[in-house]
Amino acid sequence: MSRRLSIGARAALAVLSASLFVGGCTTNPATGKPMPIFISQDQEIAMGVEAAPKFEEEFGGRVPNEQLLAYVRMVGNKLAAVSDRQMPYEYTLVKSDVPNAFALPGGKIFVTAGLMRLMSNERQLAAVLGHETAHVAAMHNVMGMQRQMGTALLIKIAGSMAGENAGAAEAVTEVVATMASMSYSRKDELEADKYGMEYMTRAGYNPWGMVELLTVLLNLKESEPGMLDQLFSSHPASGERIADAKGMIETDDAYAGFTSTERDPDTDRFAQMHKLLIETVGAGE
Ligand SMILES: [Zn+2]
Repeated sequence: MSRRLSIGARAALAVLSASLFVGGCTTNPATGKPMPIFISQDQEIAMGVEAAPKFEEEFGGRVPNEQLLAYVRMVGNKLAAVSDRQMPYEYTLVKSDVPNAFALPGGKIFVTAGLMRLMSNERQLAAVLGHETAHVAAMHNVMGMQRQMGTALLIKIAGSMAGENAGAAEAVTEVVATMASMSYSRKDELEADKYGMEYMTRAGYNPWGMVELLTVLLNLKESEPGMLDQLFSSHPASGERIADAKGMIETDDAYAGFTSTERDPDTDRFAQMHKLLIETVGAGE
């Protein structure tokens, strides 16, 4: 009898530990590899929805021009439609002059006026938004929060946001602070460039836009050190990223036929929006 019970207990324990394992392990939608994630997708989305207004405010609020907002949304939505993970993506242009881009858990993505000002065509904008979309699709930001906050705090915060109880206000502050200072690993950055280029190409953009963008940023880092400090602390640009992106375009059959010299067909549309951006928020310092 006691033997049977102990077998039963052991079986129960095995089922319990298996379900704990399943609960804490998700297959990465972009890479297909297993990853330890301790919050549900619904909790992830709830966190983004709760934190977005405060986050937006932190970066100067939305650029006050419907046409510009609609333009950034249009480019972003093309990438969202072809990404490896279907989420309620939303792309917003915020007023901050400091060049930067962010992705909250759940798919709220922000690019600053300061970063858009540095671009010269639409495929460069698609590169930034593709890179951020990839951080959401590959769940880099959720993993990053888990790393920066610790698993226990993340679970607590995710729970209080999804449950809409008293701790929600502090939870929002915590998420905004963590996301604003998020630093991605070198591996995450290379992966976000890789998937970002895939999404760009699926959406009809020339992947060389990624190389152009990274080159602009790296050159600026050398000519005006300090200007991109904030951007580089979260998404460090480097010669390695440029070489990596170039190497993928030149060797992957998916990118055959694209050339760096081919003019972006959407350059004129972008130029109009760029002019409108300067009229709306100024040319920066
Ligand atoms: Zn990044």
